[in-house]
Amino acid sequence: MNNQNFDVIVVGGGTSGMLAALSAAQNGARVALLEKNKRLGKKLLLTGGGRCNVTNAKSPEEILRHIPNGNKFLYSAFSQFNNYDIIKLFVDNGVPLKEEDHGRLFPVTNRSKTIVDTLTSLLEKHQVTCYFEVAVSAICVNNGEVTGVRLINQQTLNARAVILATGGKTYRYTGSTGDGYEFAKRLNHSITPLYPTEVPLCSNDRFIKKDQLQGVSLQGVTLAVLNEKNKKLVSHRMDLLFTHFGLSGPAALRCSSTVVKLLKTQEVVLLTLDFFPDSSLNDLVKHLKEIAKNTPLKTIKNGLKTWLPERLLIYLIHELAIKESLSLKQILDKDWQRLAALSKNFVIHINGTWPLDKAFVTGGGISLKEVNPKTMASKHVHGLFFCGELLDINGYTGGYNITAAFVTGYVAGKGAAEL
Ligand SMILES: Cc1cc2nc3c(=O)[nH]c(=O)nc-3n(C[C@H](O)[C@H](O)[C@H](O)COP(=O)(O)OP(=O)(O)OC[C@H]3O[C@@H](n4cnc5c(N)ncnc54)[C@H](O)[C@@H]3O)c2cc1C
Repeated sequence: MNNQNFDVIVVGGGTSGMLAALSAAQNGARVALLEKNKRLGKKLLLTGGGRCNVTNAKSPEEILRHIPNGNKFLYSAFSQFNNYDIIKLFVDNGVPLKEEDHGRLFPVTNRSKTIVDTLTSLLEKHQVTCYFEVAVSAICVNNGEVTGVRLINQQTLNARAVILATGGKTYRYTGSTGDGYEFAKRLNHSITPLYPTEVPLCSNDRFIKKDQLQGVSLQGVTLAVLNEKNKKLVSHRMDLLFTHFGLSGPAALRCSSTVVKLLKTQEVVLLTLDFFPDSSLNDLVKHLKEIAKNTPLKTIKNGLKTWLPERLLIYLIHELAIKESLSLKQILDKDWQRLAALSKNFVIHINGTWPLDKAFVTGGGISLKEVNPKTMASKHVHGLFFCGELLDINGYTGGYNITAAFVTGYVAGKGAAEL
């Protein structure tokens, strides 16, 4: 590797690093992008089940509401570049996007590779020099000013600005091993504690341990997290999956950051599940009685088959000690009430989550108090910039983290180029 003259070095060729390098180059800088993998965007390729959930179609204000940690900090960055600009970037470069549930956007090709290839060609077009299988080991600083980076083979590469885009600490095999936190710490930046978020939830409840509901998947249910006083802290209406260890699926992932915070001081967190968020308790009782009136001779198990997935229904009626063999006309009024009430307030005890490496997103990171929100520049070291999951910003899955990574990457690239 020749020590050419670069204005900006971007460390990490993931989601945010690719945009940072592109925007620095578009703003006139000579840019080097250093990636320790053999290729760019290894984690981005995994998102959306390999289809790349590239951003979200909601308004920028809505997007910010789906970034529970760091959204205020992002206002200024979003005023420079937001999800509409991301959409335009891809559409203008021949990648039409399609919208799916909850505003999630994917390339029409259904392939993440389309997104990574498009960014790669844009980097080439703007003459960004990409180095692969090159791992940075430290940021070089002299008198409070960045001078370049040191590589693990001790070689140094000079530049007047360095953008750290090394990602979080999840799915380490993608290259996000948390190096950037160490580099920043050595340069006196504070790192707020890291924690897993957008992560499946574990439960020791009997029905989980005995696999009674494993594989039951529910659409559009409301999952709520309660505090110790049984007050609802957050609730999310999305799909949910019961697994052999607990809960997964979008509703569980969305509740996870709140659960993780509560688990710091509590051994168990209570979640309640409403299988019928559109119906009141009275409506449900009425509906059940109507079914009973129309098909009085059917057993409860057969008559309510379409009301709830069969295994869940059987579990509920066993819990309420209602005999499976009873016909609908034999069910007592009070049991209709109990069944409806349980289906609107099903309690699950959560005692843990999957570990950080298996989370979709890392919570915590470089303290936002030490970063300029307009440029992503370090307030401690002149010429140092941050972007992506490395920052103490986390959003829900659904394209929000990718959007935050692209937006902070764009702004950091521009800030570094204009230095
Ligand atoms: C399975 C999965 C699914 C996801 N799905 C979604 C989703 O649907 N919606 C959503 O919004 N978010 C999703 N995410 C999160 C999203 O992918 C990340 O938030 C985003 O990619 C973070 O971008 P980044 O640039 O900060 O980090 P990364 O994309 O992780 O990039 C960091 C890069 O830096 C490189 N690097 C690290 N250290 C060094 C070093 N010392 N020297 C050189 N290079 C280095 C790494 O190799 C890596 O390529 C998902 C994540 C996973 C794991």
